[in-house]
Amino acid sequence: MSLIGAHVSASGGLHRAIERAKLLGAESMQVFTSNPLQWTGKNPSGAEVESFRRAILGSSIRKVISHSSYLLNLAGDDGVRGKSVDALICEISRCYQLGIDAVVLHPGSSKDGDRGEAERRLESSLSQVLVRTEDSPVKILLETMAGQGGTLGSSVEEIGGILEALDWNDRLGMCADMCHLFGAGVDVRSDGGYLRLVSSIDWHVGTSRVGCWHLSDNKGMRGSNVDRHEHIGQGEIGIIPFGMVVSDDRFSDTPCLLETPKDGIGDEGNLALLRKLRGA
Ligand SMILES: [Zn+2]
Ligand SMILES: [Zn+2]
Repeated sequence: MSLIGAHVSASGGLHRAIERAKLLGAESMQVFTSNPLQWTGKNPSGAEVESFRRAILGSSIRKVISHSSYLLNLAGDDGVRGKSVDALICEISRCYQLGIDAVVLHPGSSKDGDRGEAERRLESSLSQVLVRTEDSPVKILLETMAGQGGTLGSSVEEIGGILEALDWNDRLGMCADMCHLFGAGVDVRSDGGYLRLVSSIDWHVGTSRVGCWHLSDNKGMRGSNVDRHEHIGQGEIGIIPFGMVVSDDRFSDTPCLLETPKDGIGDEGNLALLRKLRGA
């Protein structure tokens, strides 16, 4: 079965994130291990690591995913690129200590508009990170993006190309974001559309490399490059692909993480809907 969960706040301490996820009955969760709007996150103390690991053990949570800082741009020019490499290495180290399986990364963007150059900078940065963290089991999941501006990773094919350039390193994978895929133009609104998407993922990346799904509807239209998260089934996507993904055997044991707004029906309502769609 897919592992249904949500992004939860770590306000008040990392172990508080697990308490929140437990209250939701989550089977997986995503968290920021440090402030996503800052460059330097501090390393968790021994006591924090201990309480985090203990809280996971006593819970229904099977997999924990971290989302890296929004500031990172591994495809950026030299100054920001160096800082991003260092920050991602620190993030991976925090994840390793905390027992977190994988970190989600926005592939970055080309500020100067040269996509090819930006992609090569990203590949070189990732290669450095992989070498400098080679003893770590923590995976890096490149998130599919909605395609605003010069954002890399706006198609499954492009992410496949990046993994290929890095010789299919075992520690690289993809975070498939339903809202972003739709914003970037993928028609997932029907059974057939969803199945075509997963075939394309299998062809370009491999379904086994999908380390997690991000689930939210989109207020924006297909192909609009808009990334405005909405409750499941209440945006332009509708309910169909969300039901398909949580009951897809190819994604059993894969975290399916809500990134829906916290207002209205909230995580409780969206999780209840996903469980109903999965049939348990
Ligand atoms: Zn993200
Ligand atoms: Zn988004």
